[in-house]
Amino acid sequence: MTPNLPGEKKPEEPVPIDESKLPGVDMLPSVISGNPYFTAGGGLMVLGGSLALLRKSVGSLASLAYRRMLVDLELRSTDKSYDWFLHWMSNYKHRSSRHLSVQTKYVQHPNGSISTGFSFVPGPGNHWLKYDGAWFYVKRERSERLHNSGVPTETITLTTLYKDKYLLASILDEARAMAMKMAEGKTVLFKSWGQDWRPFGQPRKKRVMDSVVLDYGVKEAIIKDVKEFLQSGKWYHDRGIPYRRGYLLYGPPGSGKTSFIQALAGELDYNIAILNISEPNLTDDRLAYLMNNIPERTILLLEDIDAAFNKREQNREQGYVAGVTFSGLLNALDGVASADEILTFMTTNHPQKLDPALLRPGRIDYKVLIDNATNYQIQQMFLRFYPGEDEKADIFMKKYNELKLPYISTAQLQGLFVQFKESPDAAIDNIEVLKQPHLNNFF
Ligand code: ADP
Repeated sequence: MTPNLPGEKKPEEPVPIDESKLPGVDMLPSVISGNPYFTAGGGLMVLGGSLALLRKSVGSLASLAYRRMLVDLELRSTDKSYDWFLHWMSNYKHRSSRHLSVQTKYVQHPNGSISTGFSFVPGPGNHWLKYDGAWFYVKRERSERLHNSGVPTETITLTTLYKDKYLLASILDEARAMAMKMAEGKTVLFKSWGQDWRPFGQPRKKRVMDSVVLDYGVKEAIIKDVKEFLQSGKWYHDRGIPYRRGYLLYGPPGSGKTSFIQALAGELDYNIAILNISEPNLTDDRLAYLMNNIPERTILLLEDIDAAFNKREQNREQGYVAGVTFSGLLNALDGVASADEILTFMTTNHPQKLDPALLRPGRIDYKVLIDNATNYQIQQMFLRFYPGEDEKADIFMKKYNELKLPYISTAQLQGLFVQFKESPDAAIDNIEVLKQPHLNNFF
């Protein structure tokens, strides 16, 4: 196998071959010069014809050999196996890759801190790998085919000897097993990429439900409702009602809305597909398409839902359509249909901007305020960071109430406890930092 082996899927196309290297071609000039027939124009025609025939038969021979001896497998970026294979190959030792691409890993820890790292995956171009004694030629390329969204799809073509074709399945099995192992006990975040959902970063460790402290009974009530919904598929199907349920979590920033949804996904063993409604290039059409193509066992999270309402005003006053409009959002919510359940969570910091039309059952079926911290939450959070320190929690609460702050967000509290993570006394002594409104900006 040579590096310029044809990796394309079109076996009928001849492989480019250097004709000067073909046996017998060098001898032709001497035959021609000794033959007067060839001095005439007819001779040129015959020569041209024979050369064309020779070239064609060599081309077809190569193509036949290619078809007989080699086999190739195409993986498209629209299929899950594409990412699995890329990841598998980046971890595989017996490979030669001169073109590498960087993939940034982004990990958010349960306490909110973020760490990043890089991994090198095979970049666009040609690569080789040896697997179970067989050679594989790997070609990663941007396809000319455009996805309906206008984003080019990518393909990876694996070529190997026909006799080794059974190894292709083994490679894919290994790649899938590796992906499953990585995702085990983890939550995959999907973000929109063009018109598709793509995993965003590496799967994250599941967020533990106990790490989210909401007001008394709030978490339990939502979880109960969601679980009931997930067990009611037959009820919905029997009555011909679209099997979907919309939840709205509203309240100030940093109160734990997103964290709760992450923990819920962990608890249900679901993934999360996140869409921020205020993304500038998200249009009504894209929204509708994405919402109808959510990966299975995935919660759809629509963030900053109020952004669609700003757009409505903007359209009316400024006369242009960009981003998601109010009617686009309603249509998308009404239009989602799937045999599987659709679990949609929406969040907003500005519930007053929401139109009552959005709050109709079928669009939003359950809404709940996730507010700034109540005394119950403050105490629970203290005990979560300093387990067993009940007496100190009481002192902390006393001092907190003396501060007479109008409100405090749970994110701000987390900031204080993280800053003094080793010492509940230090947290008590430094409680005054809660007066600084920007503390939660550190996290
Ligand atoms: P929101 O979505 O309401 O803006 P987030 O869930 O993004 O808030 O929270 C921001 C940060 O503050 C996260 O790191 C999270 O861990 C922490 N946090 C906020 N509220 C809570 C809460 N109620 N319980 C536990 N952690 C919280």
